[in-house]
Amino acid sequence: MIYMDNSATSPVKEEVFNAMVPYLKEEFGNPSTFYKLGRNAKKAVEEAREHVAKLINADTREIIFTSGGTESDNMAIKGVALKYEDKGKHIITTEIEHPAVLRTCEFLETRGYEVTYLPVNENGIISIDDLKDAIREDTILISVMHANNEIGTIQPIVEVGKVAKENGILFHCDAVQSVGKIPVDVKEANIDLLSISSHKIYGPKGVGAIFIRKGVKLELLIHGGGQENRLRSGTENVPGIVGFGKAAELAYEQLDENIAKLTELRDSLIEKISERIPEAYLNGDRENRLPNNVNFRFAAIEGEGLILRLDAKGINGATGSACSSKSLKASYVLSALGLEDAEIHGSLRLSLGTENSLEDVDVVVDALDEVVAGLRRMSPLWDNENNESLELDESKFTDPDH
Ligand SMILES: *Cc1c(COP(=O)(O)O)cnc(C)c1O
Repeated sequence: MIYMDNSATSPVKEEVFNAMVPYLKEEFGNPSTFYKLGRNAKKAVEEAREHVAKLINADTREIIFTSGGTESDNMAIKGVALKYEDKGKHIITTEIEHPAVLRTCEFLETRGYEVTYLPVNENGIISIDDLKDAIREDTILISVMHANNEIGTIQPIVEVGKVAKENGILFHCDAVQSVGKIPVDVKEANIDLLSISSHKIYGPKGVGAIFIRKGVKLELLIHGGGQENRLRSGTENVPGIVGFGKAAELAYEQLDENIAKLTELRDSLIEKISERIPEAYLNGDRENRLPNNVNFRFAAIEGEGLILRLDAKGINGATGSACSSKSLKASYVLSALGLEDAEIHGSLRLSLGTENSLEDVDVVVDALDEVVAGLRRMSPLWDNENNESLELDESKFTDPDH
């Protein structure tokens, strides 16, 4: 099996698993208790916090553990919206955010907030001028993701942070796809709130963190026993947090090595697909792109068929984003790039992981070449004689003499 869907989730690393095991067994203490068992659990949680903080250049006290990226996004956006509603009810975000941000913003719109969704250019990047133009007196929050989960495009967050700071507006960044893959520095980018998820960086599912800059106030979503510096109640997911901490530690130590390796694999995959498969086009920006993201659209291809045939060959990829692959709705991210529905349905995301190799790349390119050619042979939109796509000519379907 070749797994190339690491943006949907990533396998738990062996070291991460081993670090978690004691906390699922003998070290089962509640970190809020004061006897040794509890103190051990507390110490493990605090060590994990240090590793997560270091990965994004934050202070340990600025890291709060949550149940994952979705909760962190909700906590940041709803937390700021509720806390600052007297100051204003306007939020700026982008059209290509993860659903955890978009649905949260839409919810707030039903409660009297106004949201501006910034468009992106054909490569998936926002314009800083659009951002400046969108700012109003009553803008309380800018939420712009670092790297997009579908097309891997990296936003100019240092510039976004500068604009936010100059205008006295809080800046939340969904960095779930970028943390551990490329350098993320909350100080350099003037980030006030940042979302991270463990299972996207080879840690366990159901755990993540939110960075809250010292001094930033939030309304709380979860009330209770006052864990996590009273910001996020609930007995800590100790084994999950320990695993997340280990994953963060490894990501930090191996960052440069992983960037070099994944960039080589990504570039090889892009080059070989472009060379071998006719009418294959890269979605997203070629330069400002995560080292592990490849997203192509293939003319005259239907993505679902592509995924199923690749799956039959033991290769896992994604059409659209994992969250929307259950429905046949065209990906809103690809649509924001200005692509037609037919082009979107013919798109494939391959997100590489540190387990992948150059041999995997060759196997995948061979399989893809074969599968795409096979599907095209049966496609009414493909000209098998000339090996090129056909212009959609309505008359062909309606003229009985044709
Ligand atoms: C996966 C993902 C999330 C959600 O994180 P979970 O931990 O799965 O809840 C949020 N934002 C982005 C960009 C993601 O890729």
